[in-house]
Amino acid sequence: MDDLAYYENLEKLANAMTEHTGVDIDQVYAILRNLCGILRVCKGVTEFFSSEAQERAGKGETFVCYDSGSESDMSISDRTTMPGGISARCQVYHEAGIEPWNEQEKSRITTVMHLVIGFLSRSRLNHLVERLTMHDEQGYKNFLCFKSRIAQMGGEKLIHHAAIRFNLKHFSVINEEIGREDSNVVMRRYIDSLEEAGGEGAIVCRLGGDNYVMLCDQDYLGVVIGQMEGAPIPFGENERITVSATAGIFLINEDYGYNGPEDIIERIMSAYGAAKAGSNGDIIFFNDMLRINRDKAARIKKLFPIALKNEEIQVYYQPKINVQNNMLIGAEALSRWHQDDGIVLPDDFIPVLEQSMDICRLDYYVLEHVCRDINRWLNEGRQVVRISVNISRRHMIEEDILYHILDIIDMYDVPHEYIEIELTETTTDVEFKKLKDIVTGLQEEGIFAAVDDFGMGYSSLNLIRDIPWNVIKVDKCFVPLDTEKDESARSVMFKNMVNMLHEMGRECVTEGVETKEQVRKLRSHGSVVAQGYYYDRPLPTSEFEKRMDMRYYPEDND
Ligand code: C2E
Ligand code: CA
Ligand code: CA
Repeated sequence: MDDLAYYENLEKLANAMTEHTGVDIDQVYAILRNLCGILRVCKGVTEFFSSEAQERAGKGETFVCYDSGSESDMSISDRTTMPGGISARCQVYHEAGIEPWNEQEKSRITTVMHLVIGFLSRSRLNHLVERLTMHDEQGYKNFLCFKSRIAQMGGEKLIHHAAIRFNLKHFSVINEEIGREDSNVVMRRYIDSLEEAGGEGAIVCRLGGDNYVMLCDQDYLGVVIGQMEGAPIPFGENERITVSATAGIFLINEDYGYNGPEDIIERIMSAYGAAKAGSNGDIIFFNDMLRINRDKAARIKKLFPIALKNEEIQVYYQPKINVQNNMLIGAEALSRWHQDDGIVLPDDFIPVLEQSMDICRLDYYVLEHVCRDINRWLNEGRQVVRISVNISRRHMIEEDILYHILDIIDMYDVPHEYIEIELTETTTDVEFKKLKDIVTGLQEEGIFAAVDDFGMGYSSLNLIRDIPWNVIKVDKCFVPLDTEKDESARSVMFKNMVNMLHEMGRECVTEGVETKEQVRKLRSHGSVVAQGYYYDRPLPTSEFEKRMDMRYYPEDND
């Protein structure tokens, strides 16, 4: 026997099976064939059994690495078991009529068999693990599968693909109409039909329930969209039901700078959100949304200076109430933009203004209007309450923000105790320092400082330990829901937060109070001030003046 050839091939085999960049299975076969020749093996068979029962029944998956077609008179076999009841058996045959294997050959054959079994088991296990982790319990590919496919394909290969997030329309109705069993069949068939429509390499993965994501070549998108607009799916004896979907699509084109799966997922999610929200159709392209949003933003930027000049932006006041005695104790100034076709809410224009320093112009405009109103109220002999004004984080880069605020307040002779400034938490250390200086500066002037949306985002306790805020506005996400028990995490956190803030001597305003039950909980948790729809929405000046004159909110006793 040719020792050198044996060792050379053995080494090649080991290398080919452990190649980091991916195994070339044809190469593995070729080397195995060489080895079979050297070791005088006329046939090599490996079998896999995914359970003991399968092995007993002799029904495994068979892999033949070499078969010369000759008769055999002898064989050697090797067997191994793996976790989970999986086993593998490898068997090689000796050609009849030639000299039997000697001891050295036998031991070399066993060595090769070990290698083969080890290699195949490993790839089999990987495959199995992949099948388990990439599918849900009903056998649909899952979200992880979608993510790893995108990651695997990466930048170049994704170009000219479409990523889609969709939801089956009215599937709960279909469920009711045809029953669970049939609707499971319908769902499976619909998903299969979409995957097929998506062409080779398309995948549809389930997020849960009737929510899915999909990736396919843009060449097939027309057909896929056709199916999403409605496809008759057969079920039962001879019946059909039309299934359609609401979808958000992102077209991955050359100009897209690939930035990992998350970015693509975010885009299809937001396009889907727009589709779900209605008005623009059931199938929305992220690429269009971008354009629509960009157009909207451009319009806002263009109209904003004119709006300020023409006083189209008005200040509304949302009352703050002491829940213990139902007295009005203050209000927050919020802007409302009156356009020809209705009122535009801050969420639609503030984010655009925040892209530039325009937001600062708005905030000073609002502060000025508030000061003008307070000045007038005082002259009219009204009992005025403290009004809070939002100052965007954008102002942090302004050197003279404090003087600017003071200038406006003093221009209208407003006593400082009537003004509160709402600021939001900051993210950087530099901003933190600046924030602290501003708050301290405001307080030296007798102006109140409030931290807005506390508990949202990533606010840390440092924010209230290191900065001497007068007021903490606890975000609505902390307000216990009506259905929640007192032991719920939210209730416990809320109660303790309010306690802590009171003990620290800070005023605590709870935002987003909407129901009577919430007011009851606030009272029992010792919370004092509430702002929310339960008492009032943000009101136009004249309406707010009535509340201010009335002062007291009668208890709603039903
Ligand atoms: P914010 O400062 O947290 O203001 C409270 C928001 O919650 C207001 O939304 C208010 O209408 C709403 N709200 C009040 N009570 C309830 C309730 O019971 N339930 C619910 N779900 N919401 C309630 P609005 O007026 O749409 O303002 C949105 C945001 O826009 C404000 O959030 C603030 O961050 C910003 N904003 C508004 N006006 C100005 C402004 O003049 N300058 C700056 N920088 N930001 C402003
Ligand atoms: Ca606010
Ligand atoms: Ca807030």
